[in-house]
Amino acid sequence: MPRFCDVALPVPVDSLFTYAVGELEPVPGGRVLVPFRQEQMQGVVVRLHDDTAQKKIKSILRVVDAEPVLSAEQMQLGAWIAEYYLSPLGEVLRSMLPLKAELRQRAFYRITELGLRTRQTPTQQTLSPKQDAADAGVEHAVLTHLADGSTVAAPTLLAKTKARSTTLHTLLQKRWITRESTAESRSVRRTVTIAVLVEDVRLPKLNANLQLLLAELAGAQGRLPVASLASLPVPKTTLATLVRRGLVRLEEVAATSPFAGSSALRAHSASVFTLNVTQSEMAEKISSSVRSGKFQSFLLHGITGSGKTAVYLAAMQQTLDAGKCSLLLVPEIGLTPAMVAQLQSAFGNQVALLHSALTAAERVEQWRRIRNGEAPVVVGTRSAVFAPLHNLGLLIVDEEHDTSYKQAELPRYHARDVAVMRAKLLHATIVLGSATPSLESWSNAERGKYTLLSMPERVANRALPVVSLIDMRREFAETGQEHLVSRALQAEIETTLERGEQAMLLLNRRGYSFVVMCRACGEKLECENCAIALTHHKPGSDVESLAHSGQRLECHYCGFRRTVPKRCPKCDSEHLYFFGVGSQQGEERLRELFPQARIGRMDRDTMRSHRDFERVLAQLHNGEINLLVGTQMIAKGHDMHGVTLVGVLGADNALSMPDFRSAERVFQLITQVAGRAGRGERAGRVLVQTYHPDHYAIRYAADHDYAKFVAHELRYRRLLHYPPAAVLTNVLLEHADLSKVGEWAAQLDRWLQQHPHPHVRVLGPAAAPIARIKRIHRYHLMLKASSRKELALLVRQMLVYADKIGIPRRNLTVDVDAVHLM
Ligand code: ADP
Ligand code: ZN
Ligand code: ZN
Repeated sequence: MPRFCDVALPVPVDSLFTYAVGELEPVPGGRVLVPFRQEQMQGVVVRLHDDTAQKKIKSILRVVDAEPVLSAEQMQLGAWIAEYYLSPLGEVLRSMLPLKAELRQRAFYRITELGLRTRQTPTQQTLSPKQDAADAGVEHAVLTHLADGSTVAAPTLLAKTKARSTTLHTLLQKRWITRESTAESRSVRRTVTIAVLVEDVRLPKLNANLQLLLAELAGAQGRLPVASLASLPVPKTTLATLVRRGLVRLEEVAATSPFAGSSALRAHSASVFTLNVTQSEMAEKISSSVRSGKFQSFLLHGITGSGKTAVYLAAMQQTLDAGKCSLLLVPEIGLTPAMVAQLQSAFGNQVALLHSALTAAERVEQWRRIRNGEAPVVVGTRSAVFAPLHNLGLLIVDEEHDTSYKQAELPRYHARDVAVMRAKLLHATIVLGSATPSLESWSNAERGKYTLLSMPERVANRALPVVSLIDMRREFAETGQEHLVSRALQAEIETTLERGEQAMLLLNRRGYSFVVMCRACGEKLECENCAIALTHHKPGSDVESLAHSGQRLECHYCGFRRTVPKRCPKCDSEHLYFFGVGSQQGEERLRELFPQARIGRMDRDTMRSHRDFERVLAQLHNGEINLLVGTQMIAKGHDMHGVTLVGVLGADNALSMPDFRSAERVFQLITQVAGRAGRGERAGRVLVQTYHPDHYAIRYAADHDYAKFVAHELRYRRLLHYPPAAVLTNVLLEHADLSKVGEWAAQLDRWLQQHPHPHVRVLGPAAAPIARIKRIHRYHLMLKASSRKELALLVRQMLVYADKIGIPRRNLTVDVDAVHLM
């Protein structure tokens, strides 16, 4: 056994720490408990070795994992992330584990039959040749401690018996004791039987009992645990009859599976169709790359409604057939229950779901299933990119342009780019899919780094919706009034609803009014903690406002709330003015305009859990809602065949964001939301209300012209040296004391001026667009360069300097390939 080990600790320091191993047996990729400064801390073992120049070396206190929790491949990926994102390795490795620091894959020990028998026999007879009596004594003590048959956690067992972890290891080998991990001992691998509605045909021939059961299932969006059907006043045979007739099927799912609840997944979404020629061709290109066992990256540019999901599913199935695993990343699982339902019906219990709404126990259970190979298909959000799949052949990043793939805290990795790297390390295939690829990915395709796959047509000869722009300046000139809904859109909504079709309206701000201003002094009411305008929320049907019966002003950054003041806090004037229509007010106005409509709303105030989404989507699907208003959530991949009209009420404000990607964001948003229209038999129409009808992002989105938009946007990025024409790193300084951040920023700026680099440009220092969040002041410097390598080198040197002059690393964030610039 080597004498030392290098440990990566989750502290903001860019180095590893060496500890003496002593009698313990740490493993690379496993965690150890070590003394660090005045505390004890868990870190991951990176390397075991025999040489160190260090004089005083502390010893590790305990081995947390006797076996690696991170495979060699994951460790390699972690090292790449640390290097590329200039993040401390310990922080990276921690975020790669399922529960971050909380993961305790604690071992529990239990005595076996053999162990019990051994305990009865005298010590001498059980001694092995090399063993001395002292060891045997310790072993005996362990067996005695476990003799009552209880399960005991490793630390307790070690403390109570003076045994070392090597003792336990020996006992395990002799099969005198067994080991169980926390996850297994808790969940006992129970399964639940659920009934799934195959077809919702309530034929008149069916008797009342059968009808009742079907109605119950249909009411729960097609899935219910069998146990919960027991309360219905029907005989037990009813369910059996339905199963026999093929109207309902039964499925076994793990009790901890996210599918186990009566979650409103739509069974009917798994409609059967055969892939069209384009789809088969795409799937074949992808899976033959998987079979080749070589690294290859594809950018799948498929317009909205081109049927990308079916391509993913087919490629994943073919990957499975080739004996390999696949991983599908999605921006937010809660927003796409239909996709989850499709995966579920295609792969059944072979799917593991990883997302933020899982409880700790569920998450550990999913990881266990993945690790054991029970779930060769994994679907998940950002951090699922680290899922411990073996023999991973295919990685897919759906909606690759989505900003949620970029982690907003340390380590600030981009899951899409990590996925590409992981595929490379594994000689796997990666597919980045989108109707509106990010400019970064597009230019990678142009430069031949990614192979472009195009799906330029919608499935089944469906047409893209016709998009018309409504000039709201003219609307105002002609009507003399500010309208939320223009005359043209109002007329369209009316005829759409009359025809029994559905409409979706995008209003991309939540709350009632998003600006509260004083007419006397012009001051906007801001949060006490942040440099952010407060949003006015009215009491209403929001889940949230039930608890806050009064009107309130709320900060969407820190959650700060206050009652609505009668007078301006600055000048005491009574003339406070509320403007800017948020989705809450939008809903109210629509109820006045369309009293007959069945209106639903989708925003963060009304959607508290994935169940809320599933409910609203189901209502939209079955027609209980025919007019949906909401924030960008309504633009996310929903496939509602009844929606023929989409109205964009407010997307303009995003154009004025101080972010070089604002035009790209607006283009994506309009394209995606427009893509919700006309996905069924009937053609769709889109009306975009705008004050900037001549803006290229809006014009090209209306023309469905991605290529022209990209060409225009790329010219601008080249001109101003922004990604993808350059690499960008944002350096953020934060402190409660404004003078301190100002001083630090000036010091770093001076250092940068003294170390000019021909290929690096520095913007700032300046106050960040949001200059204060949660009472913390924020300054930033943006570094742009033509060479990634040289920029990284310069930033590393700057970090050394920052350390030297005493800027704590936790107050200084380096955001490589920054996406969230506010
Ligand atoms: P995208 O993600 O590309 O916008 P989807 O994958 O949601 O598109 O597919 C759009 C719709 O077309 C879905 O309702 C899907 O069931 C349907 N669909 C996909 N492929 C086919 C096909 N080959 N034939 C008929 N319908 C299809
Ligand atoms: Zn005032
Ligand atoms: Zn705030």
